[in-house]
Amino acid sequence: MKPIELITNRRIRNSIILGMLLIVLCWALYKQLFPGTKPEQGAIRVVKCTDEECKHSAVKKIMDIGNKHDPNCVCEKCGKPVGYSFKCEDCDYEFAYIPVEVPPPKELKKLKTMGKFQFAQDLQKCPNCGSTRTYPMPVDSQ
Ligand SMILES: [Zn+2]
Ligand SMILES: [Zn+2]
Repeated sequence: MKPIELITNRRIRNSIILGMLLIVLCWALYKQLFPGTKPEQGAIRVVKCTDEECKHSAVKKIMDIGNKHDPNCVCEKCGKPVGYSFKCEDCDYEFAYIPVEVPPPKELKKLKTMGKFQFAQDLQKCPNCGSTRTYPMPVDSQ
């Protein structure tokens, strides 16, 4: 097939465009779902104690939420680790969310596309009602 035919053949051209769109879409979705495990250096975030009884929340400068040696990453009341404060859009439940490391590419490859979505969604699922419509608490709400 001559290259010119590729461009003039509408069906082929359409499927090429569709293919490219799909790739871009997948990439954008992936970026959105896995924005990186670490927040920007020293981001000011609303954090919440992971202890069910304590639930103390505070506004802290977080370098690495997983760093247990950073006093900003442990609860000032009970000493348990804190997570980012997330709120459920459906039931208004607030919970502590600790981002886990994104699985290595090898493991990710094993997951089907829907599996990847499931994985990312499960992490931020509302522990109260199971909704995935959760969002980080804005700092100015505190
Ligand atoms: Zn606490
Ligand atoms: Zn909920």
